[in-house]
Amino acid sequence: MDKKLFTVGPCEMFESSLEVGGAPVPYFRNQDFSDVMLECERLFKKAAGAKDEDKFIALTSSGTGAMEAVVMNCLHSEDKAIVINGGSFGARFSKLLDIHSIDHEDLLIPFGETLTEESLARFSNRGFTSLLVNIDETSTTQLYDLDMISAFCKENNLFLVVDAISSFGADSLNFSESGIGALIVSSQKALSLAPGLSIVLVESDCYESRVIGHESGTMYFDFKDAVENGKRGQTPFTPAIPVILQLKDILERIEADGGISSWVKRTEVLAKDFRSRLESLPISLPEFPMSNAVTLIIFDDADAREVNRRLEEEYGFVLNPCGGERASRMSRVAHIGNHTIEDNEALVSALTSILK
Ligand SMILES: *Cc1c(COP(=O)(O)O)cnc(C)c1O
Repeated sequence: MDKKLFTVGPCEMFESSLEVGGAPVPYFRNQDFSDVMLECERLFKKAAGAKDEDKFIALTSSGTGAMEAVVMNCLHSEDKAIVINGGSFGARFSKLLDIHSIDHEDLLIPFGETLTEESLARFSNRGFTSLLVNIDETSTTQLYDLDMISAFCKENNLFLVVDAISSFGADSLNFSESGIGALIVSSQKALSLAPGLSIVLVESDCYESRVIGHESGTMYFDFKDAVENGKRGQTPFTPAIPVILQLKDILERIEADGGISSWVKRTEVLAKDFRSRLESLPISLPEFPMSNAVTLIIFDDADAREVNRRLEEEYGFVLNPCGGERASRMSRVAHIGNHTIEDNEALVSALTSILK
């Protein structure tokens, strides 16, 4: 049976991404490939709302590699960081800071609670220098309020690191307006490409003050080396060539479809449509704001693992399970990738039959 992915990443890819990914892989130490990279940089910065002088770094790694690269290149032993820790991806930042001996305190958000201005305010005027957040904490689907976090960071003069791995392209974000210092995006989530490529943007002043003159302690993930090579559209090491070609293709598609805001709008329409269809089902939704990328569904009495199993075996629909103690009660349904309203109808109809 054909499978349809309602998962956050990898997700259902577009036809053109599949074509590009299936083509022979070209050689890359030449001007043709440099042109591809430079075009990716231009279009990506445009989509993110970044400036020409901001730094674009393409890493051959999954998203976690890029998270670690940002920690190694942009944070220092004198830093004192706040980690917004509301789930497994927040915990991952926290663990990375532990491993790299960077002083930090976690703003813990128990499951079900929303990040508020009051909880942030408790971290004011206490000597913090930076804040790390997974703007969509994909494990719970909570979308944190970027405007609120951005205002807090501006007020407290904090270097802001935003992991938008599942959110970029699904929720609106503007790099410059939000004063983001470093942004992390990965190919297999809302860009709906194959895994293996991550993009980091570092704001130009932050690059000068935090990256230049700082010993990153890593060869493969060194940003200075990447930025130096990037000037001519190259990478220090062999890049994920097919995924970069897919990136150029999808960025061109986003441009042709009316820019990143229409791309975000499309996902928002799908997410709202799906959520509105659940009203008559024995399913509830969380109270916190969710990313357009993904919906957390909470079953009144069905076993989530059993529902997921039947959806996959009987209908070919693949959902994201939840981890830990939520595994039996909740699932996550992604709206990123090649989805339509008809796919929502089909999934809700299958859910209706299973839960009947
Ligand atoms: C998927 C994801 C990551 C990275 O996971 P990888 O498996 O390393 O690609 C990081 N942060 C968030 C918020 C994610 O959704």
